[in-house]
Amino acid sequence: MTSELTGYSFIGFSRGVGVESCGQSVNPATSEKIEPIYHSATPDEIATSMSLADSAFPVFSAMPGKSRAAFLRAIADRITDRLDQIAARGPLETGLPEARIRGESARTIGQLRLFAALIEEGSWVDARIEHAEPARQPLAKPDLRSMLQPLGPVAVFCASNFPLAYSVAGGDTASALAAGCPVVVIGHHSHMGVAEIVAQAVVQAARETGMPEGVFSMLYGGGRKVGTTVVKHPVTAAVGFTGSRAGGVALMEAAAARPCPIPVYAEMSAVNPIVILPGALGDEAKSVALAEAFFGSLTLGCGQFCTNPGLVFLPETGTEVFLTKLKSLVEAAGAGVMLNAGIARAYAEATASFASQPGVETLAHAKDAGGNTGAPLVLTVSAGQFAANPVLHGEMFGPACILVHGNPDETLSALAALEGQLTATVHGSEEEISANSAVVSRLRRISGRLIFNGFPTGVEVCSSMVHGGPFPATSDGRSTSVGSMAIFRFCRPVSWQNAPQSALPPELQDANPLGIRQQVGA
Ligand code: NAP
Repeated sequence: MTSELTGYSFIGFSRGVGVESCGQSVNPATSEKIEPIYHSATPDEIATSMSLADSAFPVFSAMPGKSRAAFLRAIADRITDRLDQIAARGPLETGLPEARIRGESARTIGQLRLFAALIEEGSWVDARIEHAEPARQPLAKPDLRSMLQPLGPVAVFCASNFPLAYSVAGGDTASALAAGCPVVVIGHHSHMGVAEIVAQAVVQAARETGMPEGVFSMLYGGGRKVGTTVVKHPVTAAVGFTGSRAGGVALMEAAAARPCPIPVYAEMSAVNPIVILPGALGDEAKSVALAEAFFGSLTLGCGQFCTNPGLVFLPETGTEVFLTKLKSLVEAAGAGVMLNAGIARAYAEATASFASQPGVETLAHAKDAGGNTGAPLVLTVSAGQFAANPVLHGEMFGPACILVHGNPDETLSALAALEGQLTATVHGSEEEISANSAVVSRLRRISGRLIFNGFPTGVEVCSSMVHGGPFPATSDGRSTSVGSMAIFRFCRPVSWQNAPQSALPPELQDANPLGIRQQVGA
């Protein structure tokens, strides 16, 4: 299935008429503009989307999980119909290879099906029933029942670095829809065509499965203009975001300043530290293998994953083979096309700033290719100088990292200076890891996922994945944006006290008509 791209937003089931251009997607490899011209949603269109989402909420949230699951599966099917169109458009807009676009499409489809299975089974609502004890002394206990309920319409900001898996029908949208929340998506200027193709799939699926109009809208015009208006709109109940720290913090501030503040689930900046203990470099073969694997993780996707490792702690001695191998790999590597001109510019600025800090030296730099490319870069610094310089604790979004040399005490002090991270990794034997429990404990305190003898890239989408972590990795370290637990971001617990059976949701009724797991107590 292919469909024409029109350049207009989806306001519920209708196309927008936005009069103001918000530009065209640009091929980052050639800097050429790609048809069509896109149009910002007008203030009236934003208002209509919000009003439709508000009306859709009571209908959509009251639907049985099986109906919402059918919608999610239909979205997956309608995206599948469009895979060739997505695979043709995606590389042009993002510079990502077709294989990556196809792989990410498969992940997106898989995520939708994961949430469909979760809500079809139904026990995620955590239904608890405590029967009344009228004879209890000194006070009677009422009948109390609780379960999770959806928050309301959710604003989802598309991510530049995941044009499918964290964009229009990505993990934020899938988990919000699964929870029973209508979604208003804010398209990213980097891949407006892919966004339109996926939005067409979602709207077609919504119609086919009888969803209320307003269950989904997708608006062009950017975060600052359109996105902020959506975040401030009284109907919006929560926000999902993946992007820069500055953008995430601006949205957190806008949400907190509303007359009725709302939660923002922003995934922002992380450098994903790796601690390499001496045993991991124990012999030449181990050192070479570790350098190769690290290089692969550092440069995957031109370093534009939120989990690429940008910081490595090394022992003071025994690192020669690892460093020599890493240097040769980096110097033989080519520069890669980055997602857009802004990200390429930010990478150049960040790497220049890091490289000019006191005590920082360049171990290896791949050959620059100009344009919107990013060349792999490895810097080194001592643990003492790292700990004392907050500039070095930030993110170089791209294929760059800084290696920090120190003894165990210095490494621990440097780790104490770090902010929250999505992941933290330790390499070493079991005995060494056990002997370095203070390091592991520190890494657990600052991160959402602890990795042993592996690498942080490659995020499994499953029920036990945590893709979160303390600020600034995310705005709320109690949550995950990947995996089935992501649904909990868009719910809140509600209790029913002494409610008649007919006033209870089916999940809390004694007859248990849906047959879902209930926790029943006295
Ligand atoms: P971004 O600049 O944060 O933009 C993401 C979205 O947020 C866009 O829709 C943008 O709208 C909106 N936005 C940004 N600032 C805003 C503000 N002050 N108020 C309201 N909305 C705002 O992120 P990006 O374009 O994806 O990439 C820029 C940089 O972010 C990268 O160079 C990288 O450093 C970082 N980044 C990090 C990760 C990660 O996972 N660690 C992922 C992606 C990006 P506009 O179109 O109006 O700007």
